[in-house]
Amino acid sequence: MRKIIVQKFGGTSVADTEKIKNAARTVIREKENGNDVVVVVSAMGHTTDHLVKMAKDLNKTPSAREMDMLLSTGEGISIALLAMAIQAEGYDAISFNAPQIGIMTEKIHSKARIIDIKTDKLRAKLKEGKIIVVAGFQGVTEDGEITTLGRGGSDTSAVALAAALNAERCDIYTDVEGVYTTDPRVVNKASKLDEISYEEMLELAHAGANVLHPRSVETAKQFNVPLRVRSSFKLDDLGTLILGVEKMEIYKPVAGVAADLSQARIVVCDIPDKPGVAAKIFSHLAKQQISVDMIIQSYARKISNTNDIAFTIDASDLDKTIKTLEGLKDEIQAGDIKIDEDIAKVSIVGAGMIDRPGIASTMFETLAQQGVNIRMISTSEIKISCLVDKENAKKAVQALHKVFELEGDSIAEVKGTLPEEEGC
Ligand code: ADP
Ligand code: ASP
Ligand code: MG
Repeated sequence: MRKIIVQKFGGTSVADTEKIKNAARTVIREKENGNDVVVVVSAMGHTTDHLVKMAKDLNKTPSAREMDMLLSTGEGISIALLAMAIQAEGYDAISFNAPQIGIMTEKIHSKARIIDIKTDKLRAKLKEGKIIVVAGFQGVTEDGEITTLGRGGSDTSAVALAAALNAERCDIYTDVEGVYTTDPRVVNKASKLDEISYEEMLELAHAGANVLHPRSVETAKQFNVPLRVRSSFKLDDLGTLILGVEKMEIYKPVAGVAADLSQARIVVCDIPDKPGVAAKIFSHLAKQQISVDMIIQSYARKISNTNDIAFTIDASDLDKTIKTLEGLKDEIQAGDIKIDEDIAKVSIVGAGMIDRPGIASTMFETLAQQGVNIRMISTSEIKISCLVDKENAKKAVQALHKVFELEGDSIAEVKGTLPEEEGC
């Protein structure tokens, strides 16, 4: 039986017609290797950002449904153009959007999860010898509503398709040569990793390493999809393989450093110190599909018997969060609600830190030497995150990358440009 390879091209890899031709040649090369090819594409260049900006110019709080209607159009352009470019080289290609295939998601706008992918049509078209080009990032509900998977979600479309089709491999083609020890745009001596475990990659992705959408790593781990991140522009470079932790050998204590600049911190002040208050706050947020990241509850103040609860959320959920908390304020007898958007989460990740004492203290000492104040701390078995002021994020990442000996010998090559709002 022929093997199926799923390839995914990100925005920078299809940013203009020359790059689309380059992607078409990469697809054809895989077809010429004797494999069936399913290609997932993102919107061209910064199309999605431009669409978001237009929406916000017209309406400060656009409805989630209309945002999905709008943002899903970006991928619609690139699938047709890539299919045409492949056809121009004399190969049979056909493009599909998510509803045409049946990439079924939950009924949640802007960050829906894929629940099922119908494969009949895909398998039939592959049997006819066609190369299939699929729109990433989009889904459809059973009621026929268009959804999107969250920013960067095309990676997840690709891995989910690879899992559904039992593909041999999923290759994520992007503008860097693989997964690095940190964002090579922030530290140009970041080193490329030949391999990294699903577990570490998942933590890095959640910590802000946007080279892979977190849910793509989750899905790859769940269905054991061999996943590669590689360069669209250096085809002979195999990039980084993401694989099960049991297949890996020795670790440095820290595999990578990441910063997430898209968080906001909320403090709900002076709430009564009694059972059920935290449950009420977080269950109401959960009902609104708001994910909470770090949480700290202060000691109760003796005289007033109140405490404060501070937590972080994705800044895109800020309006919804404030609305939810304002609605609850009287019921839970809370005082002020304070908001801070000038913060960043800086994290170190590594399976090698398990049972190795001194990693956290080295992190805190390094930040102190840089004059970086830590506002919140959270840990998992293989991750330590510190919330710091946004203006300190870049120097924190650079210092941590150095102290944990992650620097490589060569300067990383980066093709795209960092959107201003992402710069750390
Ligand atoms: P695409 O458009 O191909 O999906 P993204 O911009 O979403 O590309 O992801 C690639 C970018 O991720 C790189 O250009 C790089 O700046 C950034 N990045 C952040 N952390 C890392 C990391 N640890 N390794 C590699 N790239 C990273
Ligand atoms: N186009 C979408 C975005 O910019 C999805 C993706 O690129 O993965 O977020
Ligand atoms: Mg991406």
